[in-house]
Amino acid sequence: MIYADNAATTKTSPAARQAMLDAMERFWGNPSSLHTPGQQAREALQTAREAVARAIGAQPREICFTSGGSEADNQAIVSAARVGAKKGKKHLVTTAIEHHAVLHTMDQLSKEGFEVTLIPVDESGIVKAEDVAAALREDTALVSVMFANNEIGTIQPVAEIGALCRERGVPFHTDAVQAAGHLPIDVNAQNIDMLSLSGHKFHGPRGVGALYVRRGAPLLPFIHGGAQESGRRAGTENLPAILGMAAALEDSLAHMEENSAHAAALRDALIEKLSQIPHAALNGHRERRLPGNVSFCFEGIEGESLLLLLDDKGIAASSGSACTSGSLDPSHVLLAIGRPHEVAHGSLRLTLDRSNTMEEVEAIAEATKEVVTYLRGMSPVWKALQRGERSYVIQ
Ligand SMILES: *Cc1c(COP(=O)(O)O)cnc(C)c1O
Repeated sequence: MIYADNAATTKTSPAARQAMLDAMERFWGNPSSLHTPGQQAREALQTAREAVARAIGAQPREICFTSGGSEADNQAIVSAARVGAKKGKKHLVTTAIEHHAVLHTMDQLSKEGFEVTLIPVDESGIVKAEDVAAALREDTALVSVMFANNEIGTIQPVAEIGALCRERGVPFHTDAVQAAGHLPIDVNAQNIDMLSLSGHKFHGPRGVGALYVRRGAPLLPFIHGGAQESGRRAGTENLPAILGMAAALEDSLAHMEENSAHAAALRDALIEKLSQIPHAALNGHRERRLPGNVSFCFEGIEGESLLLLLDDKGIAASSGSACTSGSLDPSHVLLAIGRPHEVAHGSLRLTLDRSNTMEEVEAIAEATKEVVTYLRGMSPVWKALQRGERSYVIQ
């Protein structure tokens, strides 16, 4: 099987697996206990916290471990909203292309009386800093803009957006789940107040993530109970997962440049090959995109059939939309970059990383060309396009 769905999850690395085994064999104590096994677990937890902090240029005490990217996003946004509301600030700013962990949290808050401004993006998926600046108000409690998009790979001008939020005194959160371990991050240089990351997107285990919170930034506990994570997140720490995540992050960081160059070379080759398919269009920005992200729309086909046929040919891909299971709604991200519904349905996301090869890229390109041709041969929409009864959206 060729695995080309690394934006959905990644295979746990040997470094992460070893750290998890160590945690279970050696650091099984409760980090809150005063005895020796507890102390050993506490020291291991601290070492992991230092590693995660170092990876993003933060202080260890600014790292709060969570159950994953979704929890980190939820906690960051709900905290900032509640802290803001106490000061009469009930306005939140985010973008139209965020992950559902951000968008659905915002939806919930808008039902609770917050006003949410959704910033649109341009046709390559870029959020313009001046649009964020224009959306800021006296009562803005938080700006949340993702670091890089999980569907189309577009990388946002995070440092610039962070700088203008800082200038206006508005806390700035970024969902960096797709960026951590893949792109350089420095919370100080990039003016980030809160940042979410998740273990399983960089070859760590799933069910674990971290929320970075700058000292002084608004954070309230989300899970109530014990005093773990300095009272910010209750519950006995999931040490195997935390140590696994820290090991995976250190490993990714140590090889970031070469991994990124490798993935980018595969990405560019695949984009080049898939661009040869007639009436196909790349989604997202050509240069400002994640190293392994390839996302296309093919006119006249159904993304779901494409995925199933690729799977039959031994290729694991994605349509790029989170709701592939039975939902007829096309991706909100593809709609936000201006793809019409019928075109957004014909999407394909291939996300490559350090474990993929150029031979695999060739096989993926060949298989995709075959399957697209086959599906178009059966598609009434494609036939109508060819007869000139409809006009092509993608030239
Ligand atoms: C995967 C992902 C999440 C959710 O992370 P989990 O750890 O799976 O909860 C949030 N945001 C983005 C951009 C993601 O890609």
